[in-house]
Amino acid sequence: MINKIKEMYKQQGISEQVYDFSEKICADLEERFKKVDKIAEYNQLKVIGAMQKNKVAEAHFNTTTGYGYNDLGRETLEKVYADVFHTEDALVRPQITCGTHALALALSANLRPNDKLVYISGKPYDTLEEVIGIRPSNGSLAEYGVKYDQVDLLENGEFDFEGIKEKITNDVKVVGIQRSKGYATRPTLSVEKISQAIKAVKEINPNIIVMVDNCYGEFVEEIEPSDVGADMIVGSLIKNPGGGLAPIGGYICGTKQCIENCSYRLTTPGLGKEVGANLGVMSSFYQGLFLAPNVVASALKGAIFAANLFEKFNFNVIPDGKESRHDIIQAIEFGNPDCVIAFCKGIQAAAPVDSYLTPEPWDMPGYDAPVIMAAGAFVSGSSIELSADGPIKPPYAVYFQGGLTWHHAKLGILKAFQNMVDDGLITLK
Ligand SMILES: *Cc1c(COP(=O)(O)O)cnc(C)c1O
Repeated sequence: MINKIKEMYKQQGISEQVYDFSEKICADLEERFKKVDKIAEYNQLKVIGAMQKNKVAEAHFNTTTGYGYNDLGRETLEKVYADVFHTEDALVRPQITCGTHALALALSANLRPNDKLVYISGKPYDTLEEVIGIRPSNGSLAEYGVKYDQVDLLENGEFDFEGIKEKITNDVKVVGIQRSKGYATRPTLSVEKISQAIKAVKEINPNIIVMVDNCYGEFVEEIEPSDVGADMIVGSLIKNPGGGLAPIGGYICGTKQCIENCSYRLTTPGLGKEVGANLGVMSSFYQGLFLAPNVVASALKGAIFAANLFEKFNFNVIPDGKESRHDIIQAIEFGNPDCVIAFCKGIQAAAPVDSYLTPEPWDMPGYDAPVIMAAGAFVSGSSIELSADGPIKPPYAVYFQGGLTWHHAKLGILKAFQNMVDDGLITLK
């Protein structure tokens, strides 16, 4: 069998030397992978339990159109999400177009003029800057008179509890915490750390609404920020909880009051949750959620494998090969633009879709350096599917994430690795 597999990899352009080298790394990761599988097993049971409790049935996959009154599929799915994340209520909809939209919705629905929003995990994800108005923008919260402040994380990546005490004044209505590092260089926050920060905020004022940007974090741990006091958790369905199957969508899970506010903002005052036809996406939402714990485990294995592989060549990998994981993103600092390009070309060539295309760096709007991106996804732009991107500027890092199956993630990383070996960018001892 091993020889047959080697032969298949050879057909994919992976040399015996590269394969043998990587197999040694995989062998060393067995125990680590077992732990990842245990978390997936736990979360799988959580998801199945919620589906059983809410009596998910074939009828829930029916398409609705028009207003979508009494959409049983939609209503039951939202109960399932609320049970999976242990919240009172949820909004899970194709009308929430992406993660940024879900976050903007959660914020704008729960803030009023003269209220203040404070992010306590430092500068939020790029797209949120325009939502909040950190960068002036048409329709931002700032234009509606919502004030903003931020507490940066300390040098070591920990919450700044002193800063939090100082900046949480009487006019603060919502506190934002971003779990994942996104494309910043800080460490990702564990749910345990988020728990301590939420406690600190609630000690100052228990009425403050804590919203956690949960993007890329779902099902990475056994607990979620909603298990430790977050009033709202927010994310994208073309990341972790969509399991690769959801073709669009976002979710907000939280307290009854917060979700009610969100529903009136998503549709209209008065209509709230009662409208919103499902347009036939229900089976992919349910089945994607069902698969999500294992898909996340596959993505995590890919990230851990890559960290351990590239660490062997003294590249700076974040998180490192041994660190515990709190999201699915892996950064690798190559210090060399050729490595970034070779890496992304490898990821693209391994894809099931668009494998014959060659990614090139280009001047993307909104970026100060050319960016190269690799993605060969069934769902356009999906980043729970194996994908990578790298800005062509120091420290010449790639950020990659996803992999619907571990074996696909492995192939992508091997092809990236092989490219770098072939180009003489790394030398196999
Ligand atoms: C992806 C992401 C977002 C935005 O989601 P989109 O679906 O790309 O709009 C926000 N915050 C974090 C941490 C993310 O990773």
